[in-house]
Order: sequence, then structure tokens, then C-alpha cells
Amino acid sequence: MLEAVAAFAFGLLIGSFLNVCIYRLPRDLSVAQPRSFCVACKHPIAWYDNVPLVSYVLLGRRCRYCKAAISPRYPLVELLTGVLFFAFVWRLGVGLAAVKFCIYGALLVGLTFADLEQRILPDEFTLGGLAAALVLAWFVPVRDGIAQWLLWIAGARWTPPSVSLAEAVLGAAVPSLFLWLGGWLYLKLRHREGLGLGDVKLIAMIGAFLGLHGALLTLIIGSLAGSLIGYAYIRITHKDPATYELPFGTFLGAAAMVAPFVGTGVLGW
Ligand SMILES: [Zn+2]
Repeated sequence: MLEAVAAFAFGLLIGSFLNVCIYRLPRDLSVAQPRSFCVACKHPIAWYDNVPLVSYVLLGRRCRYCKAAISPRYPLVELLTGVLFFAFVWRLGVGLAAVKFCIYGALLVGLTFADLEQRILPDEFTLGGLAAALVLAWFVPVRDGIAQWLLWIAGARWTPPSVSLAEAVLGAAVPSLFLWLGGWLYLKLRHREGLGLGDVKLIAMIGAFLGLHGALLTLIIGSLAGSLIGYAYIRITHKDPATYELPFGTFLGAAAMVAPFVGTGVLGW
């Protein structure tokens, strides 16, 4: 319990950094320099005004200098990252598996909100996350079973880390190919882009972390939620469905946060 609470506090700090990434990566700005500033008046933010969750409340949701409203995205991202870190450490205990899933959760929070605000899924997170997942698959087993079964059919006797890596590669390749083909078909039939390449890279990253079952589950939950919520949003706000760009990456990202907790598969309890 104490470990999970510590993970929550650490998640708040990581969430604070993710807020910087969500604003700067889609704008091609450095995440290292300069230090945090108000996005309205560009005034640097002092450390005591930059405490996760607390400063937002103490400042009355406004910048100390220009009084511009601070987006509720800031505390939301911090809280969500904290909750995910708490949940993963709670479920997995302290160890490399929890570290792997905390990295996964942080990447998803960053991507979900970057897509929602900017309709951009930064490569630093999708491709960087994919590379990280493939390396981590060697040390933390991807419990999926499909690659293991295929290897068994083929008569191959691989060592456990190689099987885990195969599960991650399969989990990345199959759903992303599926999504890429879907996007290509849509473009051919409707003559407009329905899916970005960013979504394809995102599902590849998710599959490399979760394996094939987890990635397909994410795809199903994300598509269903995207269709239902997207349709309702267009109806309520009277947006033009021909021009409104649905943040599909946001729905995929949110679904991918839920997927490891569904059933008994991914986290393996
Ligand atoms: Zn300001």
C-alpha cells in the first residue's frame, strides 16, 4: 500500500512533466529548455507555483502574473498519471513489471492529450515507446501465448525471452497492419484521410507492450467508444461530420489505459 501511494506521488511529478511534453512536442519545442512558463503571458513559473495539483488549487486556477485561466488539462494529466502509477504498483508490486507498465501509462497519458489538443501523436512517444517496449519485452515477459503457439506449431524451441520478444513483435505488427490497411481502404473509397499514420504507430506501441490480445481489445474498445462518443459529440455540437476530425488517438489511448485491467490476461493475475 505504501509503495502504491509513493508511486501515486511520483506519478504526479511525471504528469507535471507530461504537461510540458503535451504542449511542446507537437510544436517542435524543446522539453528541456526553457523552464516552465505560462502559455498565455510566457512568464516563467516559480517552483512553488508548479507543485502538481496543489498549485492549481492555491492559484485559484489562474496564472499568478496575467490571471489567464489555467487549462484543467494540467491537474487532470497529473492526477491521471498518479492514479495509473498507483494502480500498476498496487497490482504488480514493486519491480521491473511495474516500471514497464508505469512507462506505458505515462506514454499513453501524453499521447491521449496531445491528440485531443493538437491532433498530433508525437513520434517521440509512439516510436520511442515502441522501441522501449521491445527492449522491455526481453526482461518482463509479454504474456500473450499466440506467438508461443505459432512457434510450437512451427516446431521452434525458443528461450523464454525470445518468445516474449516474439509476442511483442506480433502484438505490434498485426493490429498496426490491420489499421493501416483500414486507413488505406478508407482513403481509396472515400477520398479523404480517415486515419493518420500516428494512429498506426500508436497501436504498434500498445501491441508491443500488451501483446496481440491486449492490442485487439484496445482496438475494439477504442473504436466503439470513438464511434459512440464521436457521433454524440457531432450531434450535440452540430459540427459538420464531413470536416470534423475525430481524435481517434485519444480514444485508442484511453482504451489502452483500461485494457490491462480487463479480464485476466495482460497483467497476469
Ligand atoms: Zn500568465
